[in-house]
Amino acid sequence: MSLPSKTDLPVIIGAGPGGTATALFLAKEGQASIVLDRATFPRDKICGDALSGKVVEVLNKLDKALVPAFHAKTELQVPSWGILFVAPSGRELRVPFRTGPQAGALPPGFISTRLDFDNWMLEQAQQASGVTIAQRTEVEKLEKTPYGYRLHTNTGSIETPLVIGCDGAQGHTGRLLGHIEKEDAHYCAAVRAYYNNVKGMDSENFIELHFLPDLLPGYLWIFPLPNGRANVGLGMRTDVVAKRKVNLRTLLPEVLSRSPFCERFAHAELDGAIRGFGLPLGSKQRKISGDNFLLVGDAASLIDPFTGEGIGNAMISGMFAAQKGIEALKTQKLTSADLAPYDKLVYDRLWPELRLSRTLQNLSTQQWLFNWVVEKARRSPTLRETISCMFEDIDLRDKLRDPRFYFHLMFE
Ligand SMILES: Cc1cc2nc3c(=O)[nH]c(=O)nc-3n(C[C@H](O)[C@H](O)[C@H](O)COP(=O)(O)OP(=O)(O)OC[C@H]3O[C@@H](n4cnc5c(N)ncnc54)[C@H](O)[C@@H]3O)c2cc1C
Repeated sequence: MSLPSKTDLPVIIGAGPGGTATALFLAKEGQASIVLDRATFPRDKICGDALSGKVVEVLNKLDKALVPAFHAKTELQVPSWGILFVAPSGRELRVPFRTGPQAGALPPGFISTRLDFDNWMLEQAQQASGVTIAQRTEVEKLEKTPYGYRLHTNTGSIETPLVIGCDGAQGHTGRLLGHIEKEDAHYCAAVRAYYNNVKGMDSENFIELHFLPDLLPGYLWIFPLPNGRANVGLGMRTDVVAKRKVNLRTLLPEVLSRSPFCERFAHAELDGAIRGFGLPLGSKQRKISGDNFLLVGDAASLIDPFTGEGIGNAMISGMFAAQKGIEALKTQKLTSADLAPYDKLVYDRLWPELRLSRTLQNLSTQQWLFNWVVEKARRSPTLRETISCMFEDIDLRDKLRDPRFYFHLMFE
């Protein structure tokens, strides 16, 4: 597609879940947009591939028909009905979500490769009215102009009054427009691999988080996928990786060769390479808007520092970017001061849980506390229920920061 030299439409850089959600929310309100992505879809994105309840919530906000439509595509996803935590002691805690797999219920979460999920999102955007998507279009340079920004790409240049930066952890906008620097204490390194033939996968597709002592405050994950595949990976904060001088690519097979994983992976085949990618964590607030631009998702560093979840936060920030973008374009108020309320919308919604997750990330290094909570929860249905509800209710998660919570637990 040849780009117009000038447009009055917002230009979205990046067609990951942040970019497509932004385009879809704009389209829902009748605002057309242009989306540029350097990739040709379907394209891979290194990820754990877990789509949490937050993704389901945003899809429902867009259109109630989307989640049932995605659920019907059984070749694209597996529904997930809970989480299996494994404490540093090796003790397991199985926490089902409140919505169980009874007939007719829609799952609270899914696992779907990003190759499939991002392509499905792209298809939804392609079908929406007013969304123009240019693939194989790489933004190489951003030039500030009185009108807004001129984006220089490999296929020509385009000038727009509003850039919405959804170009992920390695894109230009976070660094060049937002001046967001990579800080090791607020960044995570992770590797991911696909395996076939892993034994002992959960019958209800619970996602597995293994908090192994030498990975804390990170963890090993094993997530089920369609056709008996599994997404397996591990992540660790970048400052911890540097301090311990670990190589995650060699650590993953080493961990899988230990008990109890060696039995489960005895006949497993690695499908492709072990690949790494960074996670810009939202454990610190940043300025995520400025003159003629808004930042979304990984470009705005919004990944949950405890769970590593970033897809839902990318889509939520996309929803607010669409809301603020429409208002700004209508009133032609696009200065940094005009767009600053976007930061407030995003952090009012996400900061309580991002801050809490930072605390949980630090608490998780206390192995004894982690082991003790898991041990208690194994014996207490009330606590298991509380933990289950925590995935749907942030106020409940806040309990974990309150010393009274542990006091009650002790004498329960
Ligand atoms: C190993 C790992 C495991 C993870 N596991 C999970 C998980 O299980 N669940 C979860 O919710 N989150 C997970 N995350 C985080 C999640 O992957 C990200 O938060 C999410 O992809 C952010 O979406 P986004 O739309 O902001 O960016 P991205 O998905 O990265 O999309 C950015 C898009 O921008 C395009 N782009 C980049 N630069 C340019 C350019 N110059 N010009 C044009 N296009 C450009 C790219 O091609 C890409 O399509 C994980 C991350 C990692 C690294």
